[in-house]
Amino acid sequence: MKIEKASPDLEAEVIFKGLCAHCGACNCPHIQYQENGEPKILDACNETIGKCYNSCPRTSLNIPELEGKMFGKSREDEYLGYYSKAVLIKSKTPIVNTLIEIAFKNTLVDSYVVPKNQSKKPVNNVPMIISKAKDAPDLTSRNLEYTGPLITGINEAYLSGLKSVGLVGNPCHFQGLAQMSNNDFRTDIQIQSLKIALMCAAGGATGCMYCLDYAGEFSDISISDTGLEKGHAILLVRTTLGQKILDLALNAKNIEIVSESPELVKIQDLAMKKKKNNIKNLLKQQNGKIGYLELDLKNLSALF
Ligand code: SF4
Ligand code: SF4
Repeated sequence: MKIEKASPDLEAEVIFKGLCAHCGACNCPHIQYQENGEPKILDACNETIGKCYNSCPRTSLNIPELEGKMFGKSREDEYLGYYSKAVLIKSKTPIVNTLIEIAFKNTLVDSYVVPKNQSKKPVNNVPMIISKAKDAPDLTSRNLEYTGPLITGINEAYLSGLKSVGLVGNPCHFQGLAQMSNNDFRTDIQIQSLKIALMCAAGGATGCMYCLDYAGEFSDISISDTGLEKGHAILLVRTTLGQKILDLALNAKNIEIVSESPELVKIQDLAMKKKKNNIKNLLKQQNGKIGYLELDLKNLSALF
């Protein structure tokens, strides 16, 4: 579906209202990302149906529809989104790096877009494209404490001829990719491969206070190491690709399962608090309306 709106509407409805997640989905030659990660419209284009507007996860986000398209199922867990399996694992190296290494070894990807910290202040991440696992920095949830326009890396990879590109990002990056997959503007995102989300309470963007996704609900596999002992992580497997990377990592003995039915209460509680607080923020900011979110009554009543 395409909405007949373009960059001036993106500015008015998202950027100037402070809703922007600094994700980079609106990437376009008429847009530049500033040092703080926020997009700036450089000049007006002639489009009346803008790729930028239609790619942005903060113009409108129909979560039940996107979920149906991506997974063919709806969530049973209102807080963590749809997943087919949850496991607690142990890994000697940072789990994200382990999965990237396995993905390269098994040619699931020809490259990866990973966050590169460029300063100590928010928003500090820029995309770095790697073609070998050893080029990735150590990737833990600390790397994504602050966000940045990482989706622009997918476009850069596409333009340089890469064919199968993974992404490590915050939940909002995968909301952006889901939104982009739902319109027929973008050819660059057809190269997306294994999407690894690190669970996120806030990432330093102004729009974080209106964000409802803690668990990376539109990734292939989500990871949390919050409050766990070193080397341990909870993985939520959401897609067949997510399951494949888990199986490959287990077969290669790179990781070990500690529990097939891990305690999820802590992360569910964090996700619930984020959703409730940020829905309240949205209602305040949008004068009693729920803003960009399109939730069905079941989703909403489960939260309150
Ligand atoms: S939320 Fe993402 S797509 Fe929307 S304006 Fe901000 S950077 Fe662009
Ligand atoms: S809270 Fe996290 S997932 Fe949400 S917009 Fe901020 S960085 Fe993105």
